[in-house]
This record gives sequence, structure tokens and C-alpha cells, in this order.
Amino acid sequence: MAVEVKMPQLGLTMEEGTVSKWFKQEGDAVKVGDVLLEITTDKLTSEVTAEAEGVLIQIVAQEGEDIPVKGVLAYIGDSDEKIDKKADSPIQSPTPPPQKPMGETTVAVIGGGPGGYVAAIRAAQLGAKVTLIEKNKLGGTCLNVGCIPTKAILHAAESLTQVQEMEEYGIHVEGTHVDWNKVQKKKTAITEQLVSGVTGLMKANKIQVMEGTASFVSKDTLEIVKNDGTKENATFDKIIIATGSVPAIPPIPGVKENENCVDSTGALSFDTVPQSMIVIGGGVIGMELATAYAKFGTKVTLLEAMPKLLPLMDGELTVQLRKMMEAKGIQILTEAKVQSVEPAAVGAKVNVAFDGRAVAFEAEKVLVAVGRRTDTQALNLDAVGIENDRGRISVNDKMETSVENVYAIGDCLGKVMLAHVASVQGEVAAENALGHNAVYHGETNPSCVYTDPEFAGVGFTEEKAKESGIAYEVGKFPLIANGKSLIMNGGIGSIKFIIGKEYKEVLGVHILGPRATDLIGECALAIGMEATVEDIIATIHAHPTVTEAIREAALATEKKAIHIPNK
Ligand code: FAD
Ligand code: AMP
Repeated sequence: MAVEVKMPQLGLTMEEGTVSKWFKQEGDAVKVGDVLLEITTDKLTSEVTAEAEGVLIQIVAQEGEDIPVKGVLAYIGDSDEKIDKKADSPIQSPTPPPQKPMGETTVAVIGGGPGGYVAAIRAAQLGAKVTLIEKNKLGGTCLNVGCIPTKAILHAAESLTQVQEMEEYGIHVEGTHVDWNKVQKKKTAITEQLVSGVTGLMKANKIQVMEGTASFVSKDTLEIVKNDGTKENATFDKIIIATGSVPAIPPIPGVKENENCVDSTGALSFDTVPQSMIVIGGGVIGMELATAYAKFGTKVTLLEAMPKLLPLMDGELTVQLRKMMEAKGIQILTEAKVQSVEPAAVGAKVNVAFDGRAVAFEAEKVLVAVGRRTDTQALNLDAVGIENDRGRISVNDKMETSVENVYAIGDCLGKVMLAHVASVQGEVAAENALGHNAVYHGETNPSCVYTDPEFAGVGFTEEKAKESGIAYEVGKFPLIANGKSLIMNGGIGSIKFIIGKEYKEVLGVHILGPRATDLIGECALAIGMEATVEDIIATIHAHPTVTEAIREAALATEKKAIHIPNK
């Protein structure tokens, strides 16, 4: 039985490689470990060795050919074996389906969040006639009740802390107080400016915006119930679903009835800064809003049912972050499952199962931040056969649903609920809808948490590296040894690299420290470019910056860090 020699995958994002040179010829005897050929990618050159003993009975991929990862390069077998090359070759040139002339292709985008409005713009750039249907406000969750308003409130909170902490730099500020109405006004002004920017972009790209709720009548026809009460049916060549998500309200007894229990949207628009707040859920939203309100003086208690906060972030750095938040006065309980909520004079009483006993906490407000659910109920997905798992739409890496010409992107997939992911998926869907061959790759997706200090990660966490069985190495650098960090936040935080043991490729980077959410961009690029740790080390990082610590953490993987002792 012939054994296939395949194109190896040398990095997380490698899709294909070029056969640069064959060292063995058809008919040559080969032993396990013999170098058969050399391949190149945009980033590296590597040798492919034989994994079986025998005769190189057939070379399928010739020098100069580009072969996809896992594509067959040759066969090793007995000298008398024959292979039908055509039948076994995995290399097929895809023939794109015939497309309508560009200006005639009609595209509907349902939902105007960062997924939908970006998809609409990309489709218009490619020449389609685009209609975007939005039931509420352009900008979706992100601009109106998500990323932007939370960061505006966090910025106000951070500025307050900075003023308070200026004393140690010899700057005395007297009479600081928070005008909460003004905080709210500024937050709203920023949101409105961005939403109006999106409105302008729709006009500039000649995208028709319909204000209403869309649902499927058939695979290519939507019913649009307009906000003015009228109805319209419209047929499109391509439909992109981008309906996003809404807060999930868990079936905890007493939550729905208590007006002091709010979701993230409610917590962005309190009338006054609450004296005390219980946060249910230690995910990104819970941790960010806990950080913001604690800085404004709210007594915050955070309750998380699982043993770990921030389930998807690197565990070791999450533990460090927890300690830092606790040091700032936030009370955090993990393995604390909220059982029920009752009315209380102060606002609400939250009953919790913790450490085998029943405990209770009281506060003026309770933020319920236990996750989000997809907003797909109104779409009529099942009636037209769009495959979904309890409202979470299934797609492939081209963002195609189970129904031809219907695509889905962003939060409505119920997977990675992040604005930048929705936007990139929007570009991929629009391009594929208009005859291109785009693929979504999640490897370079950074996860950012706007706590104090900020926390950001890209690629494999150490837990994920362990789970995948890959041989890896770790390099760490504490920010106390970085001058700029010491100036900015007293040197609190650290940077951690995870690299492949054999090829030294960057598998993951995790940063806990000032401006981590900006710094992670370099690391995402490294993963996208299949960079090795040597590429990071070979890049000169400016002084004094926190980026120097990225290079130091890279050096630490080789026990060559300069500003810490290497163990
Ligand atoms: P959405 O933004 O939810 O937009 C969907 C749109 O579709 C909505 O406007 C909705 O009204 C509309 N719609 C729904 N159904 C229909 C229908 N049938 N017909 C017509 N219109 C419809 N992500 C980050 O990357 N960084 C952050 O810092 C961040 N912070 C966040 C903070 C909070 C408090 C929250 C709640 C979320 C945050 N997110 C953040 C997540 C981010 O907001 C979402 O991932 C992102 O908005 C998803 O984009 P989307 O386009 O898929 O959906
Ligand atoms: P995310 O899905 O990232 O927004 O995180 C929500 C968090 O809420 C998860 O970490 C859940 O474990 C947590 N959670 C869900 N239900 C409860 C509950 N009843 N009590 C405490 N935490 C909860």
C-alpha cells in the first residue's frame, strides 16, 4: 500500500507551500528520515523527510508548483506499485460559478452593526446594488450599547484615577468630583458622532438603508416590516445575515421582577453612580463594568459561577489580573453560583451558593452579565432551511450558510462575539457573495479586556497549547523591569509568549499591562505572518516604550532576556 508524502503545515496560518527542489527522484530507494524535497512559504524554507521506507514510486508535485497544506506531493511504496495520478491528485482548479454583471447583483444585508455595515460597504465597493435593513440604530450593539459607550465610561473612570494618582508625581488636584450627567452626555455625543459617521458612509457608498425588521419569506425573498408600520417584500440575489446578539437573561428567580437588576445596556445609563453593585458573571463585560464603577467609587462585588474568570483568556495572567482588581477594592468570588434575587431595602439581595454554603449579598444595583444570545428569532430561519443550533447560525469559513446565496456573520453565529471579528467576516461574506474566493481565518483575532491594567491575548493560550498536544515553550517578562510601564502604572503586569518548540513560531502572546489592547496588534501581525520568535527579536523596538517588553518576553523564550535574570 503506497504511503502519501504530504505538504506539511508549518505555521498556524499556512495554507500552501511551493515545491522548490526535489532531492530524490522517482525510482530512488528512501529510508525514514531521508530528505525528499525542499518547500518554501512566504516566510520560511523547510525540508520534507520520508516517513516510510520504500521506493519513491511517484512524484505528483513538480518543482515550482504551489500545493495546499496536506496536498499530496509524492508516493512511497514498493517498486512495482502504480498510482493513478489524476485520480489521486488533490489539486483541482476551482471554476467560479457564473456571476451577474456587477451593477446588477442585488445584495441585502440584515442588521447594521459592525458586521452588517462593513459587509454592505464592501459589497458596494465591489459594484453591487446594496440594501441594508436595520430595525434599530445603525452601528448596532457596538456603537450604541457595547464597545464604544463602555470604553467612553471607562475612559472617564481612568481619567479620574489618573488625577487621583497624580499626587505621587507632585501634582496636587483639589476638589475633584464626578458630574455623572456630563459623563453620560459625553458618552452619548461620541456614540452619536460615530453613528452619524456610519450614516454618511451608507450615503457615500450609495447603500439604501431601510428602517425595519426583516424576515425570510423564501430563500431569496425578505419581508420587511418597516418602523413606520408598512410592509414590503423584496427579492435579492444574495442575502447577508448580520443580526447580532442581545443580553441573555438567565432563569434566576427574582431577576426579571427586580427593577434594580440591569443588563449591560442598563448599566451604561444609570441615572447616578450606584453606591454599591453586584456583578453576576466574570466574563469580559462583567469585568470591564466592575472596573469602571469601582473607579467611580461604587462598592463592587463580582460573582462568577466557574472556577476561572475570563474563560478564554490565559489562566496565569487572569489570576494576576484578579489580584490587581482585588487590590483596588473589588470583591471577587469564583465558584459562586447565583441562585436567586430578592427585593431589599437597599435595592436587591442576591443569594449565592458558595463553598458549600448559602451566602447573600445586598447592593443598590445588580448587573446581570452572564452572556449574550443571538438575535435570530424574528428571521424565520427554520422555515427556509437555514441550518442553526438553537438560533446560532451555522456557516463554513466562507461565511456561507446551508442555503445557497445566503451568508451569515458576526454575533448571530453565537461563536466569537467581537466587533472586529464581525467586520472581517462581513468583508469575507461580501467578497464571496460577489464571486471572490475569500476565507475567514480566526488565528489573528485579538481578544481584549479593558480592565486596569488592560489585558489582551492572541493565538494559543498556554491551556490551549497543552490541550492541542503541540510541543511549546514559554517566555515571560514582568513589566516592573520595563521603564515605560514603571512610569505609566508602577510596572504592574507582564507579557507572556508561547512558541513552538521545533520551529520557534509564535503561537500566542498575552499581555497584561498598560495599553495592552494596542500592543497586541504587533503580536497578531506576527501570528498572521507566521513569524518566529527570531523575527520579533530581530525587530528593533523603540525606547522607552512598553513594546520593548514584547521583545524582552520573546528573548525570554531563549533565556536571553536582558533586564531580568534568566532561569
Ligand atoms: P450587532 O452589533 O449586534 O448588530 C446587529 C444589528 O442587527 C442590530 O443593530 C440590530 O438592531 C439589527 N437587527 C437584528 N435583527 C434584525 C432584523 N430582523 N431586521 C433588521 N435588523 C435587525 N466587542 C469588541 O470587539 N470590543 C469591545 O470592546 C466590545 N465591548 C462590548 C461591550 C458591551 C457592553 C457589549 C454588549 C458588547 C461588546 N462587544 C465588544 C461586542 C460587540 O459589540 C459585538 O461583537 C458586535 O457589535 C457584533 O456585531 P454584529 O454586527 O454581529 O451585531
Ligand atoms: P461571557 O459569556 O463571557 O459574557 O461571561 C458570562 C459569565 O457569567 C460566564 O463566565 C459564566 O460562567 C457566568 N455565569 C453564568 N451564570 C451565572 C450565575 N448564575 N452565577 C454566577 N455567574 C454566572
